[in-house]
Amino acid sequence: MFKERIEGLIDDYVNKYQGRRSVMTKWRKPLVGFASAEDQLFEELKEVIGPSHALPEDLLAGARSIITYFLPFEEAIIESNIKGENSSKKWVVAYRETNQLIHDLNQHIKAELNTLGQEVKTVSATGNFFEDELISEWSHKHVAYIAGLGTFGLHKMLITSKGSAGRIGSLVVDFESPPTDRPEEEYCLYKVDGSCTQCVARCVNGSLQENAFDRHGCYDACLSNGEVYSDMGSPEVCGKCTVNVPCSDRNPIR
Ligand code: SF4
Ligand code: SF4
Repeated sequence: MFKERIEGLIDDYVNKYQGRRSVMTKWRKPLVGFASAEDQLFEELKEVIGPSHALPEDLLAGARSIITYFLPFEEAIIESNIKGENSSKKWVVAYRETNQLIHDLNQHIKAELNTLGQEVKTVSATGNFFEDELISEWSHKHVAYIAGLGTFGLHKMLITSKGSAGRIGSLVVDFESPPTDRPEEEYCLYKVDGSCTQCVARCVNGSLQENAFDRHGCYDACLSNGEVYSDMGSPEVCGKCTVNVPCSDRNPIR
């Protein structure tokens, strides 16, 4: 019951949000996934990401489920970010507005669920990582993977059925909802049969290689965009490896 209700809540909210005059960004229909707080993969995340990664129970006492959603950017935003070394202004606007949308949407979901007597812990879309190590306290993309929203690409981003160009939000709740099945197959063409390395070719500074990823180099590219767009709040963005590639706006194996 909650599942359909939450999917409807998210869909309606995003639709109305992009109708606001002050909002320039357009999103395609969101994807929503659910995970059990008991999923063993949360423990394994501590090994993959680091011991500082939180468990659902660390965020909310009595955590039972996690809700995650992917907000896919519309085509025009994806296309705008193809040319040049720096992120496009449209991409930066989309990044900023989506972060705000995630904040507002989380508050909306929380308020709705609170009225039904449920407890909710929201997590910020950005900034929840340790800057020195660039290790996340709560990795939305890994949580979204656990909740069945997609599989990881060579570019380290989650590839969903609507691609990888977009942003992810997640919340922890105190009620059980049936977990979403994780995909049985890889979505990344490199992982399927080695037939694609387009994201590597698109990386602006060589941080992304076929067999290596320099997260500090990648962060440098994001900081450099922050300098270029200092008048827009110095957003730490790049996203060049997620555009003009087979997994930008779709699952490339389908
Ligand atoms: S561009 Fe190709 S190799 Fe890179 S993540 Fe997408 S499908 Fe995988
Ligand atoms: S986000 Fe930018 S710097 Fe980082 S891997 Fe992708 S293209 Fe390279």
